[in-house]
Amino acid sequence: MSANAMRIQTLIDQLEMERTLSDAELEELFAILAQAHKGPGAGKVQICADIPQAVCSEEEAILYAAARRVREQYYGKDVYLRGLIEFTNYCRNDCRYCGIRRSNKKAERYRLTKDQILDCCRQGYNLGFRTFVLQGGEDLSYTDAAICDIVSSIRALYPDCAITLSIGEKSRESYKAYKDAGADRYLLRQETSSPAHYRYLHPEELTIENRKRCLSDLKELGYQVGCGIMVGSPGQTLANVIEDLRYMQDFGPHMIGVGPFIPHKDTPFKDEAPGTLTDTLHLLAVIRLMIPGVLLPATTALGTIHPVGRELGLLAGANVIMPNLSPVNVRGKYLLYDGKICTGDEAASCRHCMDLRIARAGYQTAMVRGDCAGFAVND
Ligand code: SF4
Repeated sequence: MSANAMRIQTLIDQLEMERTLSDAELEELFAILAQAHKGPGAGKVQICADIPQAVCSEEEAILYAAARRVREQYYGKDVYLRGLIEFTNYCRNDCRYCGIRRSNKKAERYRLTKDQILDCCRQGYNLGFRTFVLQGGEDLSYTDAAICDIVSSIRALYPDCAITLSIGEKSRESYKAYKDAGADRYLLRQETSSPAHYRYLHPEELTIENRKRCLSDLKELGYQVGCGIMVGSPGQTLANVIEDLRYMQDFGPHMIGVGPFIPHKDTPFKDEAPGTLTDTLHLLAVIRLMIPGVLLPATTALGTIHPVGRELGLLAGANVIMPNLSPVNVRGKYLLYDGKICTGDEAASCRHCMDLRIARAGYQTAMVRGDCAGFAVND
């Protein structure tokens, strides 16, 4: 074992045991991993026989093996699928990285009706999905009453399914109304926990304080809550990422969405470099060790920057994949970033494709609600 591999082994053992490292140790860990990744081909390790691209340095292999070991303690070999329904791409906000921001006049806008959403759920249910994720921009044409009506209809039709909302910043009262209507989970990525970096990525009217207030309200109301960040977003430093890790470990989310930043051609960040697969995989694995029972998706963005990005995500400790159940004729319009994959496939073929990809990585699809380990569900 090289000196760097021995040092990584020590840091990973400590992380696995104590769930934390000092800032200096985290910086050292990420630096050694980045350097090892760039190292020569000799000494590279194949971590999955069925995926030729699953090759990494000895140091990375130590990290990923620990992440998989911990994920398997909590979730075995199961990978949970979530049926994603992107029901509106209208948004009142103007986040600088986002392709459906309100100032992008080139975005072709759409909204799904309640019947169309229920139709997506019906198809998804028949394909075995037991979680529906309703995601959209902050579109005020769906009033709280309309959201509650959609949620309660899904709840009545599919009592054995989890309902996740991902519709942005709302008041505590609104979150409570959705919960009372039957919503179980809420996804709201903070994207960065650093106030200065948040200010750089978002317009004036959005603040990290309000985003954190939303996350705290959601948790107090009894939701399973997902937060998360972009990797390699413009202006992001390693110190920002460490601040994110500290915030998330302190907050204790049930899910953490981590995907690479990918520029969209009609945004102010169109010329910025994307985040990398490598940095994203390193971070996924470190999160698995720091917050072991958390649900960790291998995101579509990861699959967009590399043909087997999601499989590599699973091999780095991820345990959730979110295939798209939106009608095919609107999929290509929900473009937060360029090059998004799976915009033309029918839900049934997506499901089949996902099963094959998961099996190739050595895991199995579990068509269950897939709640966060240790979260007590009262139903
Ligand atoms: S990131 Fe979300 S809130 Fe921001 S513009 Fe895009 S859809 Fe709207």
